[in-house]
Amino acid sequence: MDNQTETTVGRHRKVILFPLPYQGHINPMLQLANLLYSKGFSITIFHTNFNKPKTTNYPHFTFKFILDNDPDDQRYSKLPLQGMGAFARVFLFNQIGGDQLRHQLELELLAKDEPPVSCLITDSLWHFAQSAADSLSLPRLVLRTSSLFCFLVYASLPLLDDLGYLSLSDNNRLEEHVIEFPVLKVKDIKKMAFKRDNDAIGEAICNMVKQTKASSGIIWNSFKELEEPELETVLRDIPAPSFLIPFPKHFTASSSSLLDQDRTFFPWLDQQPPNSVVYVSFGSVAQVNEKEFLEIAHGLEDSKQSFLWVVRPGFVEGSAWVEPLPDGFLGEKGRIVEWAPQQEVLAHEAVGAFWTHSGWNSTFESVCEGVPMICSPFWGDQPLDARYMSDVWKVAVYLENGWKREEISSAIRRVMVDEEGEDIKERARVLKQKLQVSLKKGGSSYESVDALVAYISSF
Ligand code: UDP
Repeated sequence: MDNQTETTVGRHRKVILFPLPYQGHINPMLQLANLLYSKGFSITIFHTNFNKPKTTNYPHFTFKFILDNDPDDQRYSKLPLQGMGAFARVFLFNQIGGDQLRHQLELELLAKDEPPVSCLITDSLWHFAQSAADSLSLPRLVLRTSSLFCFLVYASLPLLDDLGYLSLSDNNRLEEHVIEFPVLKVKDIKKMAFKRDNDAIGEAICNMVKQTKASSGIIWNSFKELEEPELETVLRDIPAPSFLIPFPKHFTASSSSLLDQDRTFFPWLDQQPPNSVVYVSFGSVAQVNEKEFLEIAHGLEDSKQSFLWVVRPGFVEGSAWVEPLPDGFLGEKGRIVEWAPQQEVLAHEAVGAFWTHSGWNSTFESVCEGVPMICSPFWGDQPLDARYMSDVWKVAVYLENGWKREEISSAIRRVMVDEEGEDIKERARVLKQKLQVSLKKGGSSYESVDALVAYISSF
């Protein structure tokens, strides 16, 4: 049986999924694809050649590469492949990709001997996809890969800008709470580092919000009990249905990893006592300078706790990997790897805390495993996630003042050693338990999967 036949036999409806080509977006979209496949849908993935996932890990899906097939097209072939500059592709394809996407969708709709297409599901940041889908009367759902809380803050960017928060220069007001979002401090808004106008990211976010509201439905990587007040607001403000599904509880993200995952440290981790190791990772995009890197290293060393530290090649500006570390830095207490199977690490009983950049996937994977966090957000949604985890659920310590070794070691010890840490761990355990309950028959997450399947089948 060829691949095409194998993926479609006995499957009566096809869903086309189109992730944003970055690790934190590809993971939940491919988890969603696996979930829908397990419910009987045929799956086609649209993807850019840039950051393409390992298709051999998904023999049950059909992949179509779109938007950047011409190696000579200078508009995208010259864009940076690493760091924040790589995001320029998103802005560009949102501007120029409409015709191509529409054409590709038309081919799918007309394809013979294949199941009919139910709907298109795109990352919410592919806002240009809404008009392409509309023009073909194809329902488009969005996958929003952040928290609901973050979406509501993003939806209020124009208001926050009008109120002067985005351009505030008065440093005396940084500790004030934001009246519109009382859990946030003014400095959290500043740390997002957005402007509304003359800023490609701000513009993309405003368009994302607009076209998410125009979509046929929103899928969130979350669960109801985690963000109940936010869900109420979303349901009040947006007519399309929302489905909250905790993807890490359905599938791991390992098969969609763009980097090879090191597993050689597991024999070492297996030997560590329960809750004794700090897992450290700052995601797939963030970078620090050499001075900050050394503060992290000294903070870890001074905490006197065992650690497993992911240092992605390119994480330290100007260095290939960990060259700036002092000789003999790694004793028996620590391991450094380039990339890890993060969900497995968080689920390991030796891991007692996660020092994270507070990207939503990392944050939510930690919640799913009941692991307390130490938060060092960089920008975007990260400061919002950090604040929500530390001040709403109190399952995290927020390192609010940058990279200072004394504060780092003290935050690690607060979670790992001090009495306060016991309370934080207990709250993280209770939150995980709420999630487990939601997954049982009749629970909110369980029902959400059923509702999504029924909804997609109804088109
Ligand atoms: N991740 C991983 N191995 C690592 C570090 C991260 O597999 O060593 C995965 C992690 O499990 C998560 C994703 O990469 O699913 C990072 O997404 P997140 O939203 O946390 O941050 P981003 O990379 O988008 O900043």
